[in-house]
Amino acid sequence: MYEIISKRLLNSHEIYQMEVHAPWISLSGKPGQFVIVIPHPTGERIPLTISDIVYQRQSIVLVFQVVGDTTRQMAQMNVGDDLYTIVGPLGKPSELISIVESGKRKVENDATQDASANLSTFHFPLKRLLFVAGGVGIAPVFPQVKWAFRNGIPTDVVIGARSKDLLFYEDELRAVCNNLHIMTDDGTYGEQGLVTAKVDELCSKGVEYSHCVAIGPLPMMKFVALTTKKYNLPTIVSLNCMMVDGTGMCGACRVRVGDEVKFCCVDGPEFDGHLVDFDEAARKLKTPDARRYRIATAESGHQCNLAPAVDKVLNDLKDSKDLKVSRQKPQEQAPTVRAHNFDEVSFGLTEHQAIVEAGRCLQCKKPRCVEACPVGINIPRFIQNIKEENFNQAYITISHDSALPAVCGRVCPQETQCEGSCIMGVKNEPIAIGALERFVADNHRAQSKPQSQCYPAGRKVAVVGSGPSGLTCAGDLAKHGFQVTVFEALHHAGGVLVYGIPEFRLPKQRVVEPEIENLRRLGVEIRTNVIIGKSITIDQLFSEMEYDAVYIASGAGLPKFMGVKGETLIGVISANELLTRTNLMHGYDEKYDTPIYLGKKVIVVGGGNVAMDAARTALRLGSEVTVVYRRGQEDMPARREEVHHAMEEGVQFMFQTAPVEILGNEDGTARALRCVKMEMGEPERSGSATNGSKPASLRRSFKAIEGSEVDVEADTIVAALGTSPNPLIRTTTPGLECEPWGGIKADENGQTSRKLIFAGGDAVSGAATVILAMGAGRKAAKAIMEALGSNG
Ligand code: FAD
Ligand code: SF4
Repeated sequence: MYEIISKRLLNSHEIYQMEVHAPWISLSGKPGQFVIVIPHPTGERIPLTISDIVYQRQSIVLVFQVVGDTTRQMAQMNVGDDLYTIVGPLGKPSELISIVESGKRKVENDATQDASANLSTFHFPLKRLLFVAGGVGIAPVFPQVKWAFRNGIPTDVVIGARSKDLLFYEDELRAVCNNLHIMTDDGTYGEQGLVTAKVDELCSKGVEYSHCVAIGPLPMMKFVALTTKKYNLPTIVSLNCMMVDGTGMCGACRVRVGDEVKFCCVDGPEFDGHLVDFDEAARKLKTPDARRYRIATAESGHQCNLAPAVDKVLNDLKDSKDLKVSRQKPQEQAPTVRAHNFDEVSFGLTEHQAIVEAGRCLQCKKPRCVEACPVGINIPRFIQNIKEENFNQAYITISHDSALPAVCGRVCPQETQCEGSCIMGVKNEPIAIGALERFVADNHRAQSKPQSQCYPAGRKVAVVGSGPSGLTCAGDLAKHGFQVTVFEALHHAGGVLVYGIPEFRLPKQRVVEPEIENLRRLGVEIRTNVIIGKSITIDQLFSEMEYDAVYIASGAGLPKFMGVKGETLIGVISANELLTRTNLMHGYDEKYDTPIYLGKKVIVVGGGNVAMDAARTALRLGSEVTVVYRRGQEDMPARREEVHHAMEEGVQFMFQTAPVEILGNEDGTARALRCVKMEMGEPERSGSATNGSKPASLRRSFKAIEGSEVDVEADTIVAALGTSPNPLIRTTTPGLECEPWGGIKADENGQTSRKLIFAGGDAVSGAATVILAMGAGRKAAKAIMEALGSNG
């Protein structure tokens, strides 16, 4: 049951580390808590602090020193042996955890109640911590330092021993703390002197700590507490050395804390170091009582004396100016470098950054982020998984609701969805949910081995289009045993992910292809180069190929132009053309034959993601690029990050400027774009259901300023004004009702006007987002299962 997974001798003084399989304890144990171990049926009960939890292996790590028969016998046990029993987790978790947790709750409440609070005065309740450990006390300090690291709290750690050979966990601590100070009495390692000298030095230098935690021999804790008292630094000590039975039954671990008598095992093991009567505790340790079980006498009120101290710290923290653990930002290629290549711009969060960022999440009881996620990913849970370093579980959590996490982490408009609703964003920076999702997916890809292939053989469903919507629907159906074939008009699967979004935002081989491969392994057949409506009609899919249902996810790939004079001049192209030539056909790569003709000066008209992608692509191909957008920067529908990146890379912007005519040379080539300046007005609903575009959301209206015409020189003008659904399917599928602007009519589950024909994604909504297209695919898969019977 409690199998020893690993065993390590930590130093020559018979201090051992053991990792033991203990599923229940690993689920609920927290830093500061301890367990009672009985290594073999006749052994003693030994209280041991949990030194670490390895969530992935459902195990706990214990550190013990050989001091008597039972610990000696335990030290003789080997990997694969079972410990007789482990009880726990016992005692209270570290007070630091309750400080941070109650601080987080407070932030959540404040943010919920007062959304208009002044942002500049808000600070998250975290501060620098000082940990001091001596001897075996280094082991229980480690999980607390690690916890602080995961929560982004800076730490200084002082460890001390008589000599070098008594020390351990140096590397482990260095990996999770900001500064490690090592003190030895004899100067054989680190600095010579006592830990108290270092504590005094750090405090006298004015380093501002919110707390000191000291764990080690009683005299060490006593003198650390006396030192920190001089500086009014709240100090927590752990009296785990006092414990005997660990359950409150024996009462041998009573200590005087201020005016009260406390039980270390029940009220502690942590106490306010400034109130503990160390002398009495030391005397008690020498008495035979401490080695015998006794039934506890109820002389303690079991009230924790730290509560007032906690309140005080919280108040201090609220007022402090330097506590903010800021949102973690991934490293990026430098703008001047990336403007000349097609490699991915962002490197993504490192493991360390991901864990720190995960620690910022408040784990809200009513998470707004989930409400704002179109596919309802359990965001707090996957973030908690990251915090616990259980990255595999985080991937499982996300995959429950999203088929393409590596893609969504990169291209979803998080600022208007999950991150836009994150409660941290009310007064602070929202959690970097997108970057965390990307981290989990990339980490999983790096670790995972190919899964075995499965071949569903149930009822047949045809999916038209291999973009995010079609792929999601296909994956969900295949998982339920349906036989799914995806028909794709182009020669590569992926839809916009492959032909539209550029490599520098979404690497194809590294990110998109493996996600599509996962679907193939589920048994999804992908047939490229089949144009439904031309190669074969939807009705033929039913009648000749015996499909039981069809899901149309053909996207909105038909580009719109400006509708101004001169649009047929040479040099006027659509963003779709530029992007397809670059992304799908690799026109930028000399090895490929597809040409791309771009002038020296390029104007891109539009303000969405497509415009940003076209502008940054043209820049990388060597052109000078200006974006012309009729509204202001704040009105741009593009992801904020893309606009920011474009600006950094050197793309110029002309806001509140609209094209009125394209001027040409005598040879029929474009030479300039005539524009007018726009005056912004009140919000209005833009687009209309009758002019070929889908009605859009409320945005500011605008009108041309008379006499403001200006000619902007350009030899290439790229129209990036949106797209609409291709008419091919609607014109070849009788009875399939469509909107006046071209979208296929479907209800919220994707059911169209034709029985057993479903539709979703951009083909229904008009140009939207990856996650919305995926959400539609998921709903349609469910509806198809209901229509055909859930078991394919
Ligand atoms: P698509 O991805 O368009 O896939 C449709 C597929 O169907 C295509 O492969 C097409 O070839 C195929 N097809 C069409 N007709 C037929 C037919 N008759 N027979 C067979 N196959 C057919 N969204 C974001 O969330 N974030 C972004 O950063 C972002 N950036 C974008 C950048 C660009 C350049 C573009 C064009 C779009 C961007 N979008 C972005 C929007 C997003 O990509 C789309 O909303 C999403 O891809 C729609 O998915 P879909 O599956 O409905 O359609
Ligand atoms: Fe709360 Fe979600 Fe933001 Fe975490 S990510 S703080 S759970 S809203």
